Amino acid sequence: MTINEQRLLDTFLTLARFNTPPRAEKPASEWTAAYLRDIGFEVEFDDAGAKVGGTVGNLIAFKPGTVPGAAPIFFSSHFDTVEATPDLEIVVEGDIIRATSDTILGADDKCGVAPILEAMTRLHESGETHGDIQLLLTICEEIGLLGAKMLDPSRIRARYGYVLDSGPPVGALVYTAPSQNSLHVTIEGMPAHAGVAPEKGVSAIVAAAKAIAAMRLGRIDEETTANVGTIQGGTARNIVPAEVKLVCEARSRSQEKLDRQTAHIKETFERECAALGATAHVEVVEEYQTYHLSAEDPVLRIAMAAAHAADLTPTLRPSGGGSDGNIFNGYGVPTTVLSCGMEKIHTHDEFCRLSDMVKDARWVVEIVRVARDFRD
Ligand SMILES: [Zn+2]
Repeated sequence: MTINEQRLLDTFLTLARFNTPPRAEKPASEWTAAYLRDIGFEVEFDDAGAKVGGTVGNLIAFKPGTVPGAAPIFFSSHFDTVEATPDLEIVVEGDIIRATSDTILGADDKCGVAPILEAMTRLHESGETHGDIQLLLTICEEIGLLGAKMLDPSRIRARYGYVLDSGPPVGALVYTAPSQNSLHVTIEGMPAHAGVAPEKGVSAIVAAAKAIAAMRLGRIDEETTANVGTIQGGTARNIVPAEVKLVCEARSRSQEKLDRQTAHIKETFERECAALGATAHVEVVEEYQTYHLSAEDPVLRIAMAAAHAADLTPTLRPSGGGSDGNIFNGYGVPTTVLSCGMEKIHTHDEFCRLSDMVKDARWVVEIVRVARDFRD
């Protein structure tokens, strides 16, 4: 099936030009809703937007299958971009699409959405048969997978899921991604005049420094990482600082190692602060859970067979970060993350390739075809 490259490019550019930071996805998702209704999808929005203080919910679209017994599948991408793009200017230079303005491009994740829309359009035009297809186009992915977390899992009508939201080469599939915990730490010391009576104070900054210096951070092992991301504290040069706040994280593809690293960070703050007479309050937030798919799992077998049919080379790879795929797997729907053309994401050098979006559109078409003929 040939992909309409010009239309795919136009779709991407239209989506990219909507300014859609988290909680402000409405223009892109309403445009997409109209687009999908035109090609035969039932479209609705859930109440995730209201729950997170946003302008619109997750877009949930469904097209009933025409082949009884076919494996029902969903495709997913997110509308929100990591930051706002009010002054976005885009240039297309041959195959490369990039921003000329000092902003991100927003290829993360609109170069996931656009190929899904083009693939659905081609399937609609061709009139070929397919199983049930659902689209879960989420909000607020970049601020903690909030849209996927607020989605009512009973609304998922698919048995297998495909999230288009990882980097090239197109053909790569994520089979495992880490669990992540955030640690919100408040250290309380004792204020005092730094010149008159420093011995009466307990410096929360010194306590934080000693704890951090005693901590295992960075790459812990091949599947575990940890970071102190932010630190804020102190009020004036001449006051022994009474309070410091820190936000830390730990990730691992092993739940046991994650638990161990999380406990290590918490205990180190508590112990080192106590030794100086300060107190550490550590709140652990479980952000998302790991998953492990095997090459024998239908969700991967379908995507790998489809990759071959689309002239791509399927390769299984681990991810160092979480995605909506973690949440969907947590809902009990085996889900893999497909590679897209997005490069240098979350930077102002972000760009993507039209040729990669064309590959993704073909891949999506072939996943629909393989799922149609797939029997457990
Ligand atoms: Zn993304």
